[in-house]
This record gives sequence, structure tokens and C-alpha cells, in this order.
Amino acid sequence: MDRPASGCPVPGAIDCDIHAALPNTRVLLPYFEPYWREHIQRRGLERDSFEPSSYPANAPINKRPDWALADAPAGSSLTALQGHILDRLSIRHGILNVIHGAQVMFSEDLSLAFCRAINNWIRAEWLDRDARLCASIVVPPHSAELAAEEIERLAPDPRFVQVLLLAMAELPLGRRQNWPIYRAAEKFGLPVGIHAGSSFRHPPSALGWPSYYLEDYVSQSQGFAAALNSLVAEGVFVKFPALKVVLIESGVTWLPASLWRLDKTWRGVRAETPWLEQLPTETVREHVRLTLQPFDAPPTAQQLEIVLEQLGSDRMLLFSTDYPHWHFDGDDALPAALPPDLMRKICIDNPLETYTRLVKEPVP
Ligand code: ZN
Repeated sequence: MDRPASGCPVPGAIDCDIHAALPNTRVLLPYFEPYWREHIQRRGLERDSFEPSSYPANAPINKRPDWALADAPAGSSLTALQGHILDRLSIRHGILNVIHGAQVMFSEDLSLAFCRAINNWIRAEWLDRDARLCASIVVPPHSAELAAEEIERLAPDPRFVQVLLLAMAELPLGRRQNWPIYRAAEKFGLPVGIHAGSSFRHPPSALGWPSYYLEDYVSQSQGFAAALNSLVAEGVFVKFPALKVVLIESGVTWLPASLWRLDKTWRGVRAETPWLEQLPTETVREHVRLTLQPFDAPPTAQQLEIVLEQLGSDRMLLFSTDYPHWHFDGDDALPAALPPDLMRKICIDNPLETYTRLVKEPVP
């Protein structure tokens, strides 16, 4: 295949991080179970937005100016998504990741009720209306048993291709209380997508609560590093050898340095984790993938090449736009300096290898 114009994804690319947003909470009402619909209306909860206030609604990073909608939250219109991304970039499959307050709620029952309604809504209002779309299963992350139930409920529908968690939760992600989620995901061939974000049970920085969004945003890579350490050290990939984890919106360049420390320290204290029989880096290369945007690429082609060499695998990166968030302009969703073979791997081969539920039709 010819190399596409500078920075454009390869035609037929698989976009592994698209954010579908609720226009408002009322649209969920038909998708709740009757008890919860009545409960929510009695309490007037349908009037709240439950948007996790990761950033102020009008912060530039939240929506590219040309992807903003006149009278609705960016990302809430299927027609707009088709025009902005799916048709324009010839996307073959797009994976919808809904980030919602349901993932943060303290009540495990209410959290499950909202997650179920969101999953029902995304299936009826998005997946049924465009065959290119698939979605991550939104689960109540603080109850692994209920999360596993929701995975079991939706797994028969092959358009659900992943389980979605946030990087920072109540417990480090590798802890055994979370294992029912990984057991269910592995059983159904679903990767676990770990998206940037926190349920704010703890400060995003290890030093305490920051004052500014700027600090929160920059602290996310520390959260990802801690989540990955926990998954590796607790032996999640030993217990669930078929499990894949996708770090979504994590950036990339922090990973080689973090893995260097993990390998070095493992050599010194490996007696306490006898189940880790290989270098942590080898485990991560086998089981962990990262979405591309926002790509913290260094400015020159030579520097980019060094980062990719340090990753040590050309199978780890997955194409994403992170629509509608603003990380690139025009159609320049890929670093132009990538070699053509690697571009194709990132856009098509690596996503298909990761998300085995996607139909493997021949790509033109
Ligand atoms: Zn994202």
C-alpha cells in the first residue's frame, strides 16, 4: 500500500479511542430498568449531567473547535462523528469509550444501574446505526463482582470489544479484589482498556491533592505507571495469560524509563514475587498495548526512532484520534515521520491482533 499523505491514517484504519458523549442524562431514561427509572426520576437525577469534571466544559483540550457542536456536548452526535472522522478518514472500525460519572459513584448499585443504561444506550443509539462502530463495556469499577456480571450480560454481542476502566480507582488495579473483572474479560476474549482518569478516591499525585487541572493532567502518567506496576507485580498476566490490557490516552514516552526501573528493581527483589518468571518488560510487551493520541512524540524523526526502539516492539501502538478532544489539527492524526510499514501496523494490524472480535475482512 502506498504511504498516505503526511500524517493521515492508512485507509481502513481502526480508531481505538473515540468518545461518545451523552447529550444529557434524560436520554438514558428509556434504557434503565423500571425500578431505577422511577428511582432516578423521584430523586430528579435525570436533571444532573454526571459528566466527570476532568476539565472545564469549554477548555480547549475538551473539543477541537471544528468538532464542536452548536447546541450539544462535543461527541454527542453520530452524524457529526461520521462527518468529522469515520467518513473523512476512511475509518473501518471505531471503538466508542464513554467516560461518565457512573464510573466514579460511591453506590455500587447506582453505579451498575447507570453503567447498564449507558451500555444499552450505546448499543441502540450508536452501534445499531453504524456498522463501523463498536464499544467498550462500561462497568462499576468498585464492585468487581457486579462488573463481571455486566461483562457476562454483554459479551454475547460481538460489537462490545473491550472492558473499560479508569487508571486510578479505589485500589491499585492489580489487587486480587479486581480479579473477577480480568477473569470475565479473559473468558470472553475482551481486552481491558485502561483510560486516563481517576475515580478520585485518592489524589492523582502521590504527594496529595493538587491545586490545578494542569497538575492533575500531568500526574496521569504516574497513575498509569502505578497501575501497570500493580498489574505486573500482583501477577495478573500470570493468572490470566490470555489477557490483553490497552492503556488509552496514556502517552508513550514514559513507558521505557518506567520499565527500566521495573526490570532493574525486579532483579533485586524478585524473591518476593516468585510468580514473575520473566523480565517485567517481556510481560508488558506481550500483554500491553497503548493508543496513540495524544502522542507525546519528540520533535525530530531521529528522536522518534529512538523512542520506538526503546519500546522494543512494533506491536504495541494502536491508532486513535481521541475524538473529539483536541490533540492534532486537520487530518494529521499520525506523526508524519513514521515508516510506512509501521503506520500500517499501528492503524490496522496491531488493532486487529488486539481486538480479536473485530471482523478480519481483507483490507483493500
Ligand atoms: Zn480518550
